[in-house]
Amino acid sequence: VKTITFDQLKTAVENAYAACKDLQGGQNAHYIPYLANVDSGLFGISVCLPDGRVISVGDTDYRLGIESVSKVHTAILALRQQGAQSLLEKIGADATGLPFNSIFAILLENDHPSTPLVNAGAIAACSLVEPVGNAEAKWKAIVDNMTDLLGGAPQLIDELYQSESATNFQNRSIAWLLRDYDRLYDDPAMALNLYTRQCSLGVTAEQLAISAAAIAADGRNPVTGKQVFDAALAPKIVSLMATAGFYQHSGDWLYTAGLPAKTGVGGAIIGVVPGLCGLCAFAPPLDNAGNSVKAQAALKHLMNSLSLNVFSNT
Ligand code: GLN
Repeated sequence: VKTITFDQLKTAVENAYAACKDLQGGQNAHYIPYLANVDSGLFGISVCLPDGRVISVGDTDYRLGIESVSKVHTAILALRQQGAQSLLEKIGADATGLPFNSIFAILLENDHPSTPLVNAGAIAACSLVEPVGNAEAKWKAIVDNMTDLLGGAPQLIDELYQSESATNFQNRSIAWLLRDYDRLYDDPAMALNLYTRQCSLGVTAEQLAISAAAIAADGRNPVTGKQVFDAALAPKIVSLMATAGFYQHSGDWLYTAGLPAKTGVGGAIIGVVPGLCGLCAFAPPLDNAGNSVKAQAALKHLMNSLSLNVFSNT
């Protein structure tokens, strides 16, 4: 295992920020009205170490829409409640090679949503959350789990929730198709609503980096000291991130960045270097797969400048 000092990391974060700050390209998520109107100049990077120290540069206190990054947190909850084997059987752990909201993710593998990190599997994960049948208690479990991982509470951005609920036609069809294939484990409308609500939570880049560090530190939140999930689940969640974190670009991303990571259309990306650190970069403009242009560049810059790569031993 590689070691890096706090100062090396701090310099690398500052350099990555400076190198990517003026990068152009991409556009805000246009299909969710609230996100389309977020300031596209926002940019921040946070890194959290397993000893709880956090390095932050830029807009890391801004409450961004967590969107698909929340799929990681709720997959952890489902893993905690169901165990690794049951999650594999009920949802799956495969790549889809498809856009995040693809309905084909379900059709691809014999009625199997494939992974909790695309919309179909994430809606299925919300249906799995216990206690089944009780929307409010399920919501509390989702928020409590996320709070433990972030080291602080997320806050619902109501305008984002309304904006998304009014326009999520594709997700509605995914929920009902899952229901038809017996791949939902609770009421479809409820599961969809929980998914939409969790995507609308406002969190800071700094909180997201802390949650990534909790994964890097085998389930222990390094800031609060709380053991949030069993250490044996950490490699499971990292493998899911590596396989599907960037949807149809997951392979390209791993090949170029060497970092298991997960993106969201709010512009955040979290990354995990097991044992070393949790990272988050955030900037709203996205590429055509829905992945933040600047955040990708910043994380690659950081990994390269520190010669970090989870597939390399040097
Ligand atoms: N809530 C968004 C959706 O379901 C999340 C997508 C994303 O961040 N990739 O469309």
